Amino acid sequence: MSQKLIAGNWKMNGLTGAVSEARALCEGLAGAAPPARVALCPPATLLAAMARTLTGSQVLVGGQDCHAEPSGAYTGDISAEMLADAGASLVILGHSERRAYHAETDAAVAMKARAALRAGLEPIVCVGETLDERQAGQTLELVTRQVRGSIPPEIAGRPFAVAYEPVWAIGTGLTPTLEQIEEVHVTIRAVLRGMLGEAGEGAPILYGGSVKPGNAVEILAVQDVGGALVGGASMKADDFLGIIRAAR
Ligand code: PEP
Repeated sequence: MSQKLIAGNWKMNGLTGAVSEARALCEGLAGAAPPARVALCPPATLLAAMARTLTGSQVLVGGQDCHAEPSGAYTGDISAEMLADAGASLVILGHSERRAYHAETDAAVAMKARAALRAGLEPIVCVGETLDERQAGQTLELVTRQVRGSIPPEIAGRPFAVAYEPVWAIGTGLTPTLEQIEEVHVTIRAVLRGMLGEAGEGAPILYGGSVKPGNAVEILAVQDVGGALVGGASMKADDFLGIIRAAR
């Protein structure tokens, strides 16, 4: 299996001074081969400054969303090409907050994934169920539908990741059991294999939702967990380092 990917999602948090946390992260990782691929996805306003700070380090920078078009009259939006131009090499797509607050559909996420590929970015495509959907026993069916609808077939052979993020676990301190995580990850792997054949084997499937230094070791050891997408705990270098080291 390929190296795990630990990606931090800063969401709409962080002013210029917060770039010092990225610097502290680099310092914490210096001197040894990193135990995982590491990425930070700050708000777009910090992307270029963070990319400059991280130049020459092993830490990648990513966006949190992109528009499907390369440019045009889309006030307030940012294209995948613009993210790449600012120094990004990855982009989070279809995060549940985008799906909930911006009504992003699977089809819209798939268009954005195509845009990311066009710009040479590695898409991290997010899927995951709400608490109601879990309690109704719909998790596997829903996640299967989201993966099939949000990942375009032309992604085969290109670097990409899927992030399984149960909506009810994001920012709540709640996490699924390890068995529940495994069940969903194994399902996602089977769906990817069915869609993309061999090209569906290598893509890391990240778990996201209240990952902390204290639970990262056991979560990252679950079958088919290829890394983590981390929100709150990625904003503090010490906490994020604790999670990265758990990937050993
Ligand atoms: C996220 O925002 O993708 C996330 C997983 O957040 P948290 O780690 O804070 O639950």
